[in-house]
Amino acid sequence: MIVVGGGLGGLGAAFSLSRQGLAVRLLESAPAFGEVGAGIQLAPNCTRILDDYGLLDEARSLGVLPDAMVMRDAVDGAELTRLDLRHLEERYGYPYLVVHRSDLHGLLLRACGRAGVELVNDARVTSYENTGGGARVTLASGAAHEAGMVIAADGLHSAARGLFVDDRPVSSAYVAYRGTVPAEQPRVRNTDLGEVVVYVGPHCHFVHYGLRGGEMLNQVAVFESPKALAGQDDWGTPDELDAAFAGTCDAVREGLPFMWRGKWWRMFDRNPISRWVHGRIALLGDSAHPPLQYIAQGAVMAVEDGWVLGEHVGLHRAGDGTVDWTAALAAYEAVRAEHCRRVQTTSRAWGELWHLDGLAREQRNALLRARDTYDYSFTDWLYGPTALTPDQEPDMFTPVPLDSAAVGGAALAGGAA
Ligand SMILES: Cc1cc2nc3c(=O)[nH]c(=O)nc-3n(C[C@H](O)[C@H](O)[C@H](O)COP(=O)(O)OP(=O)(O)OC[C@H]3O[C@@H](n4cnc5c(N)ncnc54)[C@H](O)[C@@H]3O)c2cc1C
Repeated sequence: MIVVGGGLGGLGAAFSLSRQGLAVRLLESAPAFGEVGAGIQLAPNCTRILDDYGLLDEARSLGVLPDAMVMRDAVDGAELTRLDLRHLEERYGYPYLVVHRSDLHGLLLRACGRAGVELVNDARVTSYENTGGGARVTLASGAAHEAGMVIAADGLHSAARGLFVDDRPVSSAYVAYRGTVPAEQPRVRNTDLGEVVVYVGPHCHFVHYGLRGGEMLNQVAVFESPKALAGQDDWGTPDELDAAFAGTCDAVREGLPFMWRGKWWRMFDRNPISRWVHGRIALLGDSAHPPLQYIAQGAVMAVEDGWVLGEHVGLHRAGDGTVDWTAALAAYEAVRAEHCRRVQTTSRAWGELWHLDGLAREQRNALLRARDTYDYSFTDWLYGPTALTPDQEPDMFTPVPLDSAAVGGAALAGGAA
């Protein structure tokens, strides 16, 4: 079978399918395999799968297991709420891990190599088509590759997605800057590297956490671009970065000089779609469900997709090794499309909550301060075992209306007025 795309999603799927005994060829357009960006957060619904793959110990050795995730207000720096990640690990059975993207990518690449995946670079797929008993992809070079099944893990700008829907990436008008602070900097010495911290502010947020055993502090600065809102093409530039964080607390502003200023990531997602399977061609990862990153589940969903597909291949494989692809793919689509729709829509809503201003910001802060650290009603739907069938998918949380917050009158007079 063929997997198109050697990102975290494609590599995870290639490993999962080769584990089921299938011969897998992975086609990647870039001349070399790799990942850009710095850190990535992996929640227990991903580390559970890495453990099943026999890769969790290696991932642990490359990453950091933080003690807590703390949310603070970006304007005054005050703590709003926290997750105790040691307790969270006990609850879900698997850790919350943060790791350098290139380390995670390298780990999956090595695992694919050991599993016998045929890894091919400089292979840009330009078209996909179903054949009688399988599917064919054609490369920019003109070469064609055929297999019983093709997985399109070709990212946000997927060439395969056009088979399913005529849509475009949706701009959020937000842009992300990334950067790392080396260990010798006072900022690192003065920061608790055991915490993943997110500062939420009006139209912006700032995240930091330690990477590579405390060798560096990973930082992400995200803000709404006035130029994007005005319809200008050159949006998200460094001058906008400085202006966006001008009103934030010292702890945030002191991190800005360490952001890489030559590259920024404009943030797009797409509207959810319910069909991911077209004959013997299936979408996986960001090609199917690119989210906004606010609940840190994009790569996690991609890894889950590969695991679920692998499990259903195992369940629909006859003794002679032939796979009932129609049944396996239907089972994959039946459970994953709805789960990922939930994650995509929740990510949008979570981002809106982070970026509130004025009274709504006060209401959010009051609700977050009132939350019990050990209340898991907002994570149980996400961090538990990955569902293989729709009936295993947990119920979602019940949203709390902002105007239920104790803000105004006496509450405001005594607090944030
Ligand atoms: C600022 C930011 C922070 C994030 N933080 C997190 C986080 O903490 N946790 C998390 O889980 N997710 C996070 N995400 C989301 C996550 O990075 C993505 O969802 C994930 O990397 C998608 O993986 P993918 O393999 O599906 O796609 P991609 O990573 O886009 O990989 C697609 C691959 O396909 C190749 N390709 C594309 N077109 C072709 C073609 N035509 N032919 C052949 N190859 C092709 C590309 O070169 C690439 O290698 C974050 C995203 C951003 C922007």
